[in-house]
Amino acid sequence: MDYRHLLEEVYQEVLSLDLKGTIATYIPELANVDESKFGISLITTQGAVFSVGNTEEKFSIQSISKVFALAVVYPILKESLWERVGVEPSGNPFNSLIRLENENGVPRNPLINSGALVITDCLREIFENPIDTVLEFIRKVSNTPDIDYCEATAQSELTHSSRNKALAYFIKSYGNIKSDVEELIESYSYQCSIEMTCTELARAFLLFANTGVNFYTNEELLTKSQSKRINAIMQTCGFYDEAGDFAFKVGLPGKSGVGGGIAAVLPGKFSVVVWSPLLNEKGNSTKGMKALELLTTKLGYSVF
Ligand code: GLN
Repeated sequence: MDYRHLLEEVYQEVLSLDLKGTIATYIPELANVDESKFGISLITTQGAVFSVGNTEEKFSIQSISKVFALAVVYPILKESLWERVGVEPSGNPFNSLIRLENENGVPRNPLINSGALVITDCLREIFENPIDTVLEFIRKVSNTPDIDYCEATAQSELTHSSRNKALAYFIKSYGNIKSDVEELIESYSYQCSIEMTCTELARAFLLFANTGVNFYTNEELLTKSQSKRINAIMQTCGFYDEAGDFAFKVGLPGKSGVGGGIAAVLPGKFSVVVWSPLLNEKGNSTKGMKALELLTTKLGYSVF
């Protein structure tokens, strides 16, 4: 497959569409980014790397980190994890409180903020240094030891975290969060502030294209079943209230973040990451969504 030519074509076509969007400003530090940035990296399960545009610049992975936190916790807690968080799409914005009361403080899935806060709580119960555990996991699966947090972004989120605190206190009132909420939000904000390039993130996502086996060490980090299930959750819940649209137009398990990144996989074939900070009203990258739609349309296949 000539992925180089395909990526070039997709990249040029997206640029020609002159898509609009807005940079996330509710975390002020995220606004300090050049809105014209745009890159795509694709890595095959044979390890061939194809890149176009700004693929070697770090960006804030934000909610994409939720997938890595899940991949750390799931093999430890196994199926008991699903007593504390569900696997159903929410159909609501990423930071919504709306269903929590009717569902007794059990978040719909681990890829929305409420569910990710429960996962962070699990991490805090299991590990002495929960934030470092997720960071080390990302370094390991991306084979990149110098990946790190962005202190400024973490602090910026911490000082604008009323909504996440409200979610955490509400869940705690049902007994589904055990940690001190201030400490929990600190762990969560540091995890969201991790910075990676498109290529680094595509390397890390190879794990989910490679049945849970670390591509670089051959270590089985997830069972085949756990890997399939994480992909299923990404497919149904990775784009909040735009998950159906993403499945319809792109058809890959994936996850977006308000830093403008989208990471996705075609299991057995490749991982792909797109970054452009301009977001649509659902908080997903406009150019990223279009690039992946064009990619699978031109390829003629997806998981469907
Ligand atoms: N850190 C962000 C928040 O909790 C992540 C949201 C996102 O990327 N969708 O608001």
